[in-house]
Amino acid sequence: MYIVMLGAPGSGKGTTAKILAKKTNLPHISTGDMFREQIKKDTELGKLANSYISKGQLVPDEVTIHIVEDRLTWEDAQNGVILDGFPRTLEQAKALDEILEKQAKKVDIVPELIISDDVIIDRILHRATCSNKECGAIYNTKFKPPKVEGICDICGSALVTRTDDNRETIQNRLEVYRNNSKDLISYYQEKGILVSIEPEDPTAENASEQVVNKILEIIKRK
Ligand code: ADP
Ligand code: ZN
Repeated sequence: MYIVMLGAPGSGKGTTAKILAKKTNLPHISTGDMFREQIKKDTELGKLANSYISKGQLVPDEVTIHIVEDRLTWEDAQNGVILDGFPRTLEQAKALDEILEKQAKKVDIVPELIISDDVIIDRILHRATCSNKECGAIYNTKFKPPKVEGICDICGSALVTRTDDNRETIQNRLEVYRNNSKDLISYYQEKGILVSIEPEDPTAENASEQVVNKILEIIKRK
């Protein structure tokens, strides 16, 4: 099962993808996480990616497509993956289809999370992520705070705020998403694999679990 998660920055796409990955036993592939890892290691790729990410711009397609193509050759990706943050442009979507086609595979389902801008901005400004890469739990200091401030409930590591989570980049990231997602959404709509999902209460603590359950129901029906 090859799943592409769509949703604006802060829509809960990452949290949903992580839970879904655990429940389906498929690897969670987040291009944003992959770039942040490279930035942390201060590699050439990291430096290049950071020059775009820090401005809220997209990393060029060639670079992004290449790292995903490579990741999809891994053993754990052969029965399916949950893609989070990729594809983000029509070019990337077409490239993904070509990559999968070569292996006689295809994208099976594209859940799109729908949330209002107000909720998104509020979420991003209060987002805190566990610094332990193995864990990566995501908190919201307003809606879903950790039990102890600044500490991950699950593994006890320090929580960090992403440097691109600030008011200046959010507006730009939302705009970039809106501009690119139109094409992506119609692309997957035409293929008949897009499903729009709107959480009943996006501010509920278990909003992401609710969304995951909806996605699992749709997968079962397929
Ligand atoms: P968010 O969805 O909250 O913006 P991500 O972690 O998915 O966060 O991405 C962070 C940044 O990494 C993006 O703003 C963009 O600069 C870069 N990035 C991630 N995925 C892609 C992609 N598929 N194509 C181009 N740039 C990407
Ligand atoms: Zn943790």
